[in-house]
Amino acid sequence: MVIALLFILHWYLSFFLQSFFYHRYAAHKHFTMSRSVEKCFFVFCFLIHGSSYMSPAAYTVMHRLHHMHSDTHNDPHTPVFNKNFFATLIQTRNSYHAIYTRELGVDDKFLKDLTQWDAFEKIAHNWMTRILWILIYLSLYTWLATAWWQFLFLPLTIIMCSFQGAMINWWAHRFGYVNYETGDASKNILPVDFLFIGDAYHNNHHKYPGRVKNAHKWFEIDPIYHVTCFFVRMKIVTWKHPLAS
Ligand SMILES: [Zn+2]
Ligand SMILES: [Zn+2]
Repeated sequence: MVIALLFILHWYLSFFLQSFFYHRYAAHKHFTMSRSVEKCFFVFCFLIHGSSYMSPAAYTVMHRLHHMHSDTHNDPHTPVFNKNFFATLIQTRNSYHAIYTRELGVDDKFLKDLTQWDAFEKIAHNWMTRILWILIYLSLYTWLATAWWQFLFLPLTIIMCSFQGAMINWWAHRFGYVNYETGDASKNILPVDFLFIGDAYHNNHHKYPGRVKNAHKWFEIDPIYHVTCFFVRMKIVTWKHPLAS
């Protein structure tokens, strides 16, 4: 039971940070934050994503390529040509790795205004650190698990951030409804947005990637947008455009 509750908590904290910090802040610049607040979010991401920690800069480049080449052969992750989820997961991982190591050359326009903290990532984005996190997870599971089947959550805990990134792209480029004609396969997957807290309105987002609110119809709700409004009121972040909200 404790394992299940911790897994659910890990899921939501991990997805919130991926959407809020990587997607909406680093990749789309919907809002701004001071360098010290940005460094706090780097640390939060490291503590929550642990063994699956990703570089916001590499994520940003991959995501900008995704928007530019959505569902074509130049898209770094699309389920359109291979509908198997694990194929999308592996394609995403390989694209991310090629971008992070700079094996994949990209146009300078995708490299503008990246969110970076190189000194921190020497520790956070390191195989030794990832192995240490896996040992910590293994110890926690061994300590808290009350049945063998609870260890089935362990692989997902280890790859949480990558799994969630591939999951949203796989699901929202295959199933769901559309509000707009976008020329790609993006869909809105409202019935499972309780897992993706506002990022499941993917067709809306592909049509208007600069909009701070993903929910466009009266029956759609974007919880992370409302959390961001709260952070704006608390002066933790600032909307990039004064009338954004
Ligand atoms: Zn997409
Ligand atoms: Zn986006």
